Amino acid sequence: MRPEIKKIVIDPEFRNAELPHKIAENLGLKPEFMTKEELLDEIRRNPGQDLFKTAKKVLFFTENKGRFLKKCPGSKGVVCCNYYTINSVTGCPYDCSYCILQHYIGNNPFITVFLNKEKAIEEIETFLAENRFLRVGTGELADSLALDHLLDESGFFIGELSRRSLFDRVQFEFKTKSAEVERLLEVKKLYPEANIVAGFSVNVPRFSMAEEPGTATVEERMNAAKQLQAAGVNVAIHFDPVLMLDELFDDYMKLIDFIFSQLDPEKIAWISMGGFRHTLALTETIVGRNPGSLLLCGEMFPSDSDNKLRYLAFQRRKFYTAFNSRISSYFKGNPPLYMCMEKAFMWSDMQLQFPENVFRDNK
Ligand code: SF4
Repeated sequence: MRPEIKKIVIDPEFRNAELPHKIAENLGLKPEFMTKEELLDEIRRNPGQDLFKTAKKVLFFTENKGRFLKKCPGSKGVVCCNYYTINSVTGCPYDCSYCILQHYIGNNPFITVFLNKEKAIEEIETFLAENRFLRVGTGELADSLALDHLLDESGFFIGELSRRSLFDRVQFEFKTKSAEVERLLEVKKLYPEANIVAGFSVNVPRFSMAEEPGTATVEERMNAAKQLQAAGVNVAIHFDPVLMLDELFDDYMKLIDFIFSQLDPEKIAWISMGGFRHTLALTETIVGRNPGSLLLCGEMFPSDSDNKLRYLAFQRRKFYTAFNSRISSYFKGNPPLYMCMEKAFMWSDMQLQFPENVFRDNK
């Protein structure tokens, strides 16, 4: 089911921008004009049952005064995979219990859509003046596809890369927990040479149903992934966050079997696995908003380098080893598998190929 959007708000400075008016018409809504502060004030005065849930139904259109293109912040002391992100939208209609966006409840709870996306393309060109290749995605502070039928982010970015003949130098990932691929399929048809990756974040159904409300089921996500592979789009699978609890071990093995028995391994760009890690501040949010969360189970320990809590190393090894061996059984050679936000000692223990070998399209 598509996420519900109840309100379209435009920053008065951009009152004539075409996109928000088009979306409002499409949804049968009357656009309203407010500054960010006015909107924040209104939402605080009328928070409904849960301010964050109420704000997730609001699209706010404005400009981004900062940079769009950034290197993935990663975390201190972990192996970096050299990924870049474009934050053209911040905020998401879903409400995952572990989502980092919950930190922004205070001053940015709604979905902000930036209208000056041309600037992101200029930043890509500047980057490419000094680098041969860019692997980039929009799914860091938003779900790349959940609202693509309205925002057409895929059409914008792929269309602009086509106009600038950059398909052999930019690989663009759209990361999602939705099955919203209708527009992406059209875009691939329009630009068959585009180097697109559709990344699906997946988790065991028991956790996903309870703690990723509104997202598509894993069956729906895999149906969407199959359609994309059939259309020539490479797919990525992100097992993240993995809840390394013994009681979920068999469920994760079943999930791996379900996913890789359906997909074509030749059209899998990469697979990531990342054990759940979090800051103490997020613990407080989880306790407050999702007191029964499975995220609060299991033994975790703060890291010396980034102060994030992680499962103990032996438990991470156990899960990563089992993931590696089960996933490998579906591939002829090494699967394009890497760990997200993991430390060098774990890479060395796991003897996984390093990121530069996984991201083989980077020339
Ligand atoms: S899909 Fe991603 S961005 Fe959206 S709520 Fe979940 S974790 Fe946050």
